[in-house]
Amino acid sequence: MRRVVAGNPGPYTGPGTNTWILEGDPVAVVIDPGPDDDAHLAAIEAKLGGAAVGLVLVTHSHPDHLPLAARLAARHHCPVLRHPELQEGDLVQVGKVRLKALFTPGHASDHFCFLQEEDRAVFTGDLVLGRGSTMITHPDGDMAAYLRSLERLLELRPVILFPGHWDPVDDPPAKLEEYRSHRLDRERQVLAALQAGSAGAAELTRRVYGAEVSGEELLQAAEMTLKAHLGKLIDEGRVTEDGSRYSLA
Ligand SMILES: [Zn+2]
Repeated sequence: MRRVVAGNPGPYTGPGTNTWILEGDPVAVVIDPGPDDDAHLAAIEAKLGGAAVGLVLVTHSHPDHLPLAARLAARHHCPVLRHPELQEGDLVQVGKVRLKALFTPGHASDHFCFLQEEDRAVFTGDLVLGRGSTMITHPDGDMAAYLRSLERLLELRPVILFPGHWDPVDDPPAKLEEYRSHRLDRERQVLAALQAGSAGAAELTRRVYGAEVSGEELLQAAEMTLKAHLGKLIDEGRVTEDGSRYSLA
């Protein structure tokens, strides 16, 4: 397996998007072609070393994963598969590459992971990253679904994760538990912030994230993540929303 890192580093993408190439002999499978960028396309072709692509898979439709898919597939006259053509449990086989599609919404409503069963390896997209935590942003992100997707991956007992950003994870259970407890800790912080009195989303973001986050862009992202937490708590009947103010139920 080979990796090409796209030239799109940033606060949400780390060193850049990982494009994974699985050699299927005679054709390859490419997972997450990444941003529509000439230099990245050239880097993928160079890594392919003349091999043709038989299938392009996309974990989810975010702009750092999907846009190059159409152009790459057109060059190789091959299909692109992602939600909704893919369904939970679908098996895709191209040459020697065999992957099972796992519907894992939460980070995005159309998110899939791809499981290589014989190696218990999972291509996780943005469900799990090699470092830091992933963004669950209201309204497309869904915190309850995200936690279920993490638990689902834990049950598969994978031995390695190939994430959408940063390096592979070689201790998946520890990483998945870390992600799970990070979210549950954050949820407790949201509830504690509400104990100080009802408030709007911006005020709650300040109470919860305080000194942790600075800069307009990251504060906005934190607020969208906070709203995803609030959405879960509202659905569970633990928080109420009145206009744009939130209170403990
Ligand atoms: Zn994403």
